[in-house]
Amino acid sequence: MNNFSYSRADTVGIAVNHLSQKPNSKFLGGGTNLVDLMRENIEQPDALIDVTRLSTGKAIRELPDGGISIGAAVRNSAVANDALVRERYPLLSEAILCGASGQIRNMATTGGNLMQRTRCYYFYDEASRCNKRTPGAGCDAIDGFNRIHAILGASESCIATHPSDMCVALAALDATVQVEGNGGTRSIPMNEFHRLPGDTPQIETTLKPGELITAIHLPLLPFARHSRYRKVRDRASYAFALVSVAAALEIQRGVITNVRLALGGVAHKPWRAHAAENIMAGAKATEEIFRRAADEELAEARGRGHNDFKIELAKRTIVSVFTELSEAGGTQ
Ligand code: SF4
Repeated sequence: MNNFSYSRADTVGIAVNHLSQKPNSKFLGGGTNLVDLMRENIEQPDALIDVTRLSTGKAIRELPDGGISIGAAVRNSAVANDALVRERYPLLSEAILCGASGQIRNMATTGGNLMQRTRCYYFYDEASRCNKRTPGAGCDAIDGFNRIHAILGASESCIATHPSDMCVALAALDATVQVEGNGGTRSIPMNEFHRLPGDTPQIETTLKPGELITAIHLPLLPFARHSRYRKVRDRASYAFALVSVAAALEIQRGVITNVRLALGGVAHKPWRAHAAENIMAGAKATEEIFRRAADEELAEARGRGHNDFKIELAKRTIVSVFTELSEAGGTQ
């Protein structure tokens, strides 16, 4: 681990200014991923700017339009156990509780969860070739052991997956990421926040240099009370998703009137499943339509050998979750 300085910011302005003065700096949330990466020499910042004490980032509050705002420094366990979140967006609570361990959720922050990096084995192994760690070096995962890797939106540069459960739920819920930098504040739709790898897998988000995540906003989405998060993984806890499904469904007189679907464990970013949603919207809620929607969404999926099984697994998980939601009513 390299030597680095540590400072604690009391306001967003101070945090942003610190970072602009020292470009090779990192904002520090709970440190549950960043400190691991520093121990492995994958990240080598000159300075850490602790943003966990910013008072603006510590609250979950209702917005005037009926949605809610989750401060970037709110711990993952506090989001999962918040009464408003559990009542209005149960899939978000379920997704967070599926991730990591109780101890890690108590430390990890909302903003940090968005910024966590892939758990591709080769990314963490300095002896392996990795375009994300060293641009232009190559990718040992493509012809290597790629059981956990992407089946959608990958490139010949990188086939890593995004590790977060929380972000998959946020993608399904049309969340927006509130950020602040020297250029002012802006709001980034969740589905535009993380990037596909293309030729530049080292660039993972659309954040501009020096911008700090200040909050997540969730819109008013009444039918999201009827939602699920299902995570399929190798063991029952403390494992990343092979495939996950975040879904919300509204049915009126047997017809799907509102639907949201996002997939995790399948791509470099949380995968919002618009093709599947378009097939389901306005159709009768049947297992056949769920399967047709899943087939359409995975039509372009490509396995790399060890991860071929994920394609059928994703389809079956989509059908299973929507069947469960529709059998439970799905009606407002
Ligand atoms: Fe690196 Fe991406 Fe290849 Fe993994 S899949 S080794 S993160 S370039």
